[in-house]
Amino acid sequence: RLSIQNVTKYFGADTVLDHLNLDVEKGEFVTLLGPSGCGKSTLLRCIAGLAVMEEGAIMLEGRDISADLPKDRGVGMVFQSYELFPNMTVYDNIAFGLKMHKMPKDAIRKRVDEMIQVIDLPNKMNAYPHELSGGQQQRVALARSMANQPKVMLMDEPLSALDAKIRRNLRVELRNIQKKLGMTTIFVTHDQEEALTMSDRVCVMYKGKIVQMGTPEEIYTNPKTEFVARFIGNYN
Ligand code: ATP
Ligand code: MG
Repeated sequence: RLSIQNVTKYFGADTVLDHLNLDVEKGEFVTLLGPSGCGKSTLLRCIAGLAVMEEGAIMLEGRDISADLPKDRGVGMVFQSYELFPNMTVYDNIAFGLKMHKMPKDAIRKRVDEMIQVIDLPNKMNAYPHELSGGQQQRVALARSMANQPKVMLMDEPLSALDAKIRRNLRVELRNIQKKLGMTTIFVTHDQEEALTMSDRVCVMYKGKIVQMGTPEEIYTNPKTEFVARFIGNYN
């Protein structure tokens, strides 16, 4: 399990994460839902080691990883924009991190093949990013992060740049992949429908705190505060 304990982060005088606690069980899919500026991306960046926190600990399988370098944390991240290398094929994009880790060539081949099966793009191995649709590019970005077999996957609005139809399809696909691999996942969105339909549990965030956490049903039928009620109420 991943355990986020008392995490606090300031930007100047602003408290962006305020003594925040969250436990995510192994294999669980948890969504952070909240308005712009509430600290969702900052929390993911602290977990990944891309931002320094002032207080708190990030425990993964019982060990505090908060002093580890990003590459040593066992945490993968996918962003809103795909950030594939434009001059590399799909194959090389997925293989990139494995080469960095000096994995033997045969093993890289095998792993990349597996990943291409998982994202179901068998014919696009030698294509370049500009030859793919947005949804396909995002699947490659996902494969690239998964290729390193991270214990935890962090996704920062990975679907929000896509048009509505592709986004719906990819929601289902992404969830299937996540379940199949048993990947512990934190998924960020400010789309209520996305959060309520995809998640094992939803955390509603406001001003650097989690104001309510529960199953989609609990959050939807029994909002604890007016803010949650109003925020979730936009759904439909
Ligand atoms: P969005 O839904 O718009 O992506 P978010 O919930 O991901 O919002 P964050 O990006 O985590 O929000 O930002 C939280 C707060 O921290 C905001 O008030 C933002 O202005 C501030 N912030 C983020 N990064 C920095 C930075 N590098 N320097 C100063 N302030 C920052
Ligand atoms: Mg953000």
